[in-house]
Amino acid sequence: MGEQTIIMTKFYGSNRDNLGLIINAGSSSLKFAVIDMTNSEFLLDGIGERLFEADATLNITIRGAKKTKQTIKYGSHKDAISALLDVLGYDFNPVLVAHRVVHGGEYFRDAMKVDADVKEKIKACSILAPLHNPANLAGIEAAEHSFANTPQYVIFDTAFHSTLPPEAYRYALPQSLYEQYSIRRYGFHGTSHHYVSGKTAVLMQRPLSTINMVVAHLGNGCSATAIAGGKSLDTTMGFTPLDGLVMGTRSGSLDPSILLFLEKEAGMSSSDLDDLLNKKSGLLGLSELSNDMRTLEEYALEGHKGAILAIEVFCFRLAKSIAGLMISLPSFDALVFTGGIGENSEVIRHKVCEKLKVLGLQIDTHLNVSVKDKADKISSSCSKTEVWVVGTDEELQIAQQAYALFGQETSL
Ligand code: ADP
Repeated sequence: MGEQTIIMTKFYGSNRDNLGLIINAGSSSLKFAVIDMTNSEFLLDGIGERLFEADATLNITIRGAKKTKQTIKYGSHKDAISALLDVLGYDFNPVLVAHRVVHGGEYFRDAMKVDADVKEKIKACSILAPLHNPANLAGIEAAEHSFANTPQYVIFDTAFHSTLPPEAYRYALPQSLYEQYSIRRYGFHGTSHHYVSGKTAVLMQRPLSTINMVVAHLGNGCSATAIAGGKSLDTTMGFTPLDGLVMGTRSGSLDPSILLFLEKEAGMSSSDLDDLLNKKSGLLGLSELSNDMRTLEEYALEGHKGAILAIEVFCFRLAKSIAGLMISLPSFDALVFTGGIGENSEVIRHKVCEKLKVLGLQIDTHLNVSVKDKADKISSSCSKTEVWVVGTDEELQIAQQAYALFGQETSL
């Protein structure tokens, strides 16, 4: 059976009238997924990588079938989508296309249907996310080119945090800087915090509106959010996704005077500092070994001092932030771990919860090591706060938000 036949058979097996295409475009990549909106089943996903380079490739993983890989020499975002259609067939006609957009600034509190005004505002927010928003726009335009009659939706990483109160979103800088440059905390990883908080409520079998929780999303980027009744009230990432927790290669929060000091004493330019804080710091900088938590855990077991230090700083800063986030909540009903580290590392969960014992948190060490399906409670029965491990699914959240909006529009 040929590749295309396998794919089309797969699609014919589901409801072909109800497929959603999810796009997450980066500056040199285009990630995508096709989801059956009827039952949230992922049919395929993949990535166009090293776009605009001679060795640009498109990788597709078809669920239940196999992976395909092809070269799309110097391919753009548009070329990646055309190559995807070569595989899917040109009669592939999704009911909607949903895009992840990193920064919605103060314009967007919710998912939006794409029109000229929305695109203009995404462009205006590029000043706040120069690496991400222009790439996200390129993805939207590429999809508009291939699916001219299909409604497109955008879901913003920042929108979930639009409920932050001023005391949480303002920096103690002059008012004029907020007014002139929109300098404030925005918060990121919104789709993940949104999805995980909703799923936790389902697992706890309580209405989301009654639960107060802190969600710790720990991947290569890390952020934690205080969520009361489904609303974000405080979060560790700020003006950019560099703020807050220790991350794979990002420093998280630090004394801003360090930048002034390095500029003067080490002659570092703004691009040197950008590189230092975003690419050479965090777990990598502390350990001088790796940004990958699995590697650090392995080496820490063998006594590697840098790995041990990196893990300790990571857990200390995370526990301290969780304690700080707690004060935004009327009660502390649940702490939820998610993201690659949160879902998989019993070591990190254990260390962080040990530090939070002072708040009455207690995990069951047996439950902590036997988490099933990334959807399990790991706290002991005497813990004041429930502790959960809940797998995130940003693509599904993006698809569901877009589909909800699509449903509202089509039932009008
Ligand atoms: P991204 O933010 O890029 O989506 P992920 O959410 O996949 O990243 O998280 C990547 C991180 O998760 C890496 O630091 C990786 O080492 C860590 N990780 C994945 N599996 C494990 C594991 N079994 N134990 C510890 N860390 C893990």
